[in-house]
Amino acid sequence: MHLASVGSSKLCFLLSLAFCGLLLLLIPAFQPTPHQADLPPPRPHPRPARVGKRPANTPRNPGGLVVPLQEEGLTLGHNVSSVGQGRPRDTQTNREGGRAPIAGQRDLPNTRRRTDSHRGPAEGSLPGVRGVGFRSREPLEPKDIFLAVKTTRKYHKSRLELLLQTWVSRAREQTFIFTDGEDKELRKTGANIINTNCSAAHTRQALCCKMSVEYDKFIESQKKWFCHLDDDNYVVLPSLLVLLSSYHHSQDVYLGRPSLDHPIEAAERVKADGSASVKFWFATGGAGFCISRGLALKMSPWASLGNFISTAERIRLPDDCTVGYIIEALLEVSLTHTRLFHSHLENLTRLPSNTLLQQVTLSYGGFENRRNVVSIGGAFPLVEDPSRFKTVHCLLYPDTDWCPSKNQHH
Ligand code: UDP
Ligand code: MN
Repeated sequence: MHLASVGSSKLCFLLSLAFCGLLLLLIPAFQPTPHQADLPPPRPHPRPARVGKRPANTPRNPGGLVVPLQEEGLTLGHNVSSVGQGRPRDTQTNREGGRAPIAGQRDLPNTRRRTDSHRGPAEGSLPGVRGVGFRSREPLEPKDIFLAVKTTRKYHKSRLELLLQTWVSRAREQTFIFTDGEDKELRKTGANIINTNCSAAHTRQALCCKMSVEYDKFIESQKKWFCHLDDDNYVVLPSLLVLLSSYHHSQDVYLGRPSLDHPIEAAERVKADGSASVKFWFATGGAGFCISRGLALKMSPWASLGNFISTAERIRLPDDCTVGYIIEALLEVSLTHTRLFHSHLENLTRLPSNTLLQQVTLSYGGFENRRNVVSIGGAFPLVEDPSRFKTVHCLLYPDTDWCPSKNQHH
């Protein structure tokens, strides 16, 4: 009896030891490393559709179709045919003029679905807010972003001056102005001016020539992100930094706003005997777009040292479309659609005022539509600040010397 009970308690002790050992072995197996936990689920990456072959002697674009724009029923003068592919790849149901696109809420959850390599922020959280996945990362700094502004000689005074006075003054070192004519007055401002020696005409070739120089200068700069802007864009630098911080520059990232609600279709001249149709999304240059260094390096065979111009000739489309062609059709990387970038192709008056400072880029209507500006009150009345850029700037940086001081306001 006694011996038996000693034996059984020994057995119990040994069994519990074995059980504890087993537990110790099993517990770590249930805990994935933080690295594993961060990885997004793999997602299939469909290749942009090639829509059959067409003999070389048939017209490329019968009737010269004009591509309808997503917003306001405007039309874009790109002389290409387009085939509706339903909705853009983001799932947002609101259009411009609908409800506010709030940074990181409406925009960014969709970015998680883009490509396998993308690590978007947690759903519903602000972009760049550091979750588990961001702990070991070096924070992105303003100096890491290469800001390329495309302009032309005739807009140095009427457009560029305003940018130099506003957002460019807060990003002087990393902003590069790509223009087509010498201007001593502009040089005196101390801004980084790059005379591309490209033609000053508003032709596809001239615009692609500028983009080609922008690309080469970016690669040379060693910076982590390339962002292209037009000279009628206001860049909300803090929002841009937050947005780009939610990605890594070594990933394949192409961020921007499509101007169409479907991929563009172009005839791709491959061989002399014919051409294939190719469909791809592109970010509209008028709203600005950004590309990670990792992706930009992969673009090199089609973009560097003048190759951009011959690539553009293959599809005979403007600079921004050519960027989309290289990235989506040739490299098979998807555009991350974002509504934080804005061009004057959309109705800017309908952007909710309380979300303006969270947008990444803003714009204003051209001469034909002077009243297409963001609705914002503040430092300057419409007559003194028709683009609203100064007013936006003073809300972002009230310490600016030409902004009305708080004391004067009360
Ligand atoms: N632009 C240019 N050369 C020209 C005309 C325009 O480089 O001959 C640039 C201009 O500075 C701007 C961009 O192209 O950065 C778009 O021009 P704009 O806003 O006039 O046209 P839209 O936005 O309507 O295409
Ligand atoms: Mn414009």
